[in-house]
Amino acid sequence: MWSRVYRSRAQMQRGLALAPRPPIPYDTNMQAIRVHQFGPTAVLKLETVPDLAPTASQILVRIHAVGVNPVETYIRSGNYGALPPLPYTPGTDAAGITADGHRVYLSGSLTGTYAEYALCEPRHVHPLPDNISFAQGAALNIPYATAYRALFLKARIAPGETVLIHGASGGVGLAAVQFAVAQGCRVIGTAGSDRGLALVRAQGAHQVLDHRQPDYLTGIAADVILEMLANHNLARDFAALANRGRIVIIGNRGSIEINPREIMRREAVVTGVLVFTATPAELAEMHTAIATGLTNGSLRPVIAHEFPLSAAPQAHEAVMQPGAAGKIVLVPQLQ
Ligand code: NAP
Repeated sequence: MWSRVYRSRAQMQRGLALAPRPPIPYDTNMQAIRVHQFGPTAVLKLETVPDLAPTASQILVRIHAVGVNPVETYIRSGNYGALPPLPYTPGTDAAGITADGHRVYLSGSLTGTYAEYALCEPRHVHPLPDNISFAQGAALNIPYATAYRALFLKARIAPGETVLIHGASGGVGLAAVQFAVAQGCRVIGTAGSDRGLALVRAQGAHQVLDHRQPDYLTGIAADVILEMLANHNLARDFAALANRGRIVIIGNRGSIEINPREIMRREAVVTGVLVFTATPAELAEMHTAIATGLTNGSLRPVIAHEFPLSAAPQAHEAVMQPGAAGKIVLVPQLQ
């Protein structure tokens, strides 16, 4: 049942060959969340599904924690540009143990991660250091890769620059705070709850702002703005942007009217990021940066809440609620 063929050259170079743990027996009654039709959270059903059978080039991973991302709610509801064929198992991010005992985090799979096991290709599997929990490992891929791509590959932040992170209390925002602090930037983070504001401050932000307050951006002149809800904020972001500043749009849930003159007169750059479009070279750079940050201690995912796998509907409700304070994860109830 188990495939041992997963040590690609690239993985070896990234140091996957950590001390393995004893193999874990495969549980034949695998449970997974299945979606048979797009719709509200109730379409997320816990079902028993057939065993996964890896080929020689695939890796079977026993999943210990699953990262829940907003995009999975858009897909589940049918409101996303690229939808999977039905039925499907949701999920991109997870952490667990490979067949021969290596702790890993996942950047995707062939079968979906809202499950007790997932089939992966070598490119999906990254080493998870011993001092990072499975829940933290499940919080790495989309949030940290997106934050890195926005800050370093798009905005090209430099030490000493001021970075305003809208929605700093969520999965992507906290990752961005940690990356930008480690880069020596002056970090301003926004949140919409007292708990979120305290968390952003504790992660090293130099200033925190409550995005529930009117005029909360008064007096800000940021070199870089990460926008987590562009349809809400973009028009007023320009007043908080320094000349030649850069705005990176990460999150957007609707339309907004802006005056292009605001871009012109600052010689600003407004760009976007979509983590799924990263090239293999960019992916390698992003995961190398994550590995470096986990090793030197500058990156530490924060978990807000753990739900059992069967509570995927509640997790989808929770990830769309205001008052974020870290990452929401699902935990399969492993035998
Ligand atoms: P999350 O964990 O649910 O966090 C959402 C964040 O948005 C929270 O910090 C929340 O703050 C904040 N927010 C709410 N209202 C806001 C407002 N008016 N102004 C500024 N921020 C506000 O979600 P996430 O995983 O961090 O993702 C954030 C967004 O980026 C989502 O829309 C997601 O779909 C998108 N995303 C895009 C990519 C990409 O490749 N483009 C990748 C990952 C995520 P409070 O709850 O404290 O109010």
